[in-house]
Amino acid sequence: MKKKAIKIPKTIIIVCIAIAALVFLQQRLSAHQQTKYSAQNLSLRPPFNGHRELTEKITLGAVGDVLIHPPVYQDAFNGAGYNFAPIFEQVKPLLEKPDILTANQESMLGGVELGLSGYPLFNSPQQVANALVDAGVDIVSTANNHALDKGEKGIHSESAYLDQLGLPHVGSYSNERDRQKLRILNKNGIRIAFIAYTYGTNGIPLPKGKEFLVNIIDKKTMKSEIARAKSNADVVVMSLHWGNEYERIPTNEQRDVAQFLANEGVDIIFGSHPHVLQPMEWMKTKDGRKTFVIYSLGNFISGQQGDYKDIGGIATIDVTKQITKMGSKMILSNPTFTPTYVTSQQNKSYRIVPLAKARNYGLTSAKAKYDEIKLHMAKWLQ
Ligand SMILES: [Zn+2]
Repeated sequence: MKKKAIKIPKTIIIVCIAIAALVFLQQRLSAHQQTKYSAQNLSLRPPFNGHRELTEKITLGAVGDVLIHPPVYQDAFNGAGYNFAPIFEQVKPLLEKPDILTANQESMLGGVELGLSGYPLFNSPQQVANALVDAGVDIVSTANNHALDKGEKGIHSESAYLDQLGLPHVGSYSNERDRQKLRILNKNGIRIAFIAYTYGTNGIPLPKGKEFLVNIIDKKTMKSEIARAKSNADVVVMSLHWGNEYERIPTNEQRDVAQFLANEGVDIIFGSHPHVLQPMEWMKTKDGRKTFVIYSLGNFISGQQGDYKDIGGIATIDVTKQITKMGSKMILSNPTFTPTYVTSQQNKSYRIVPLAKARNYGLTSAKAKYDEIKLHMAKWLQ
């Protein structure tokens, strides 16, 4: 018997297509409206249908050391508490530009209860973190040579405060379970894993059996964490505390470690510790990818002055995810660097300002310095 073809009126087909298109568009819109969302929300995204190509792009940013010397926290004291927000006010528009921004929290945020202090054993008011969040920082690295300045207590206190504030942190941990938790920030369906390691802790040994407290550079440990991050994220970002203080060019050791990390799958390396800026470069990997490295981001805020120690900046890089029927592909492009300068008057009124505008804050050579720094940072790019 011949089957009779069922005829569906054209109008019903058109209505169905229109509804499907509306649902699809709405899902795309709601994904864009969320600033941060967990990996589960990825399921909200429309499944790839084999015919369309999807492209998402975000901008990642980083600033260097947040190193709070006593004059800086004394300046932030308003008689009742600590307010660091004014320090960041002039650069807030710059800091808000990247979709995700990371900073290196160099001095311990142990809080007043543990006794505030400066060099050589730093401990800062915890309200520094509130100002960072307010300025647009999304995650801080805490693996650096000052991580044990207040011992285990400092790490517990800092970690608890950041958790309560909701500011993700990576590189020092209260316990092994926390260390095992990958820090992955998700934006527009692009998953960015953050990892952080330091060369050491100023000779203060890690208590036996508590190696989880601070991530110390070790190729074997890093290799396995990178592999774990790679299988859970689209992009792996490494914050590294390394190099020689006050040197404007990276050491051979920094280059070797960077090449190792690049080959292992790290996509972006944000370096810190030298307190001065070291250039950016693209590093070729043995599997034909390229890794973006910025060897040192300098001091973003500190009480140090002169000899390039009061110049820092914001590095950004675009991350594009292309989904085609061949699979998904990540592209890094457009690295930029915007220099900043820390101004103060007799140890008061600390402000981070764009270096391009620093003449208005008393730096007469601002224009020449700006040109010099732009050249210094980009000289190895191409
Ligand atoms: Zn350091």
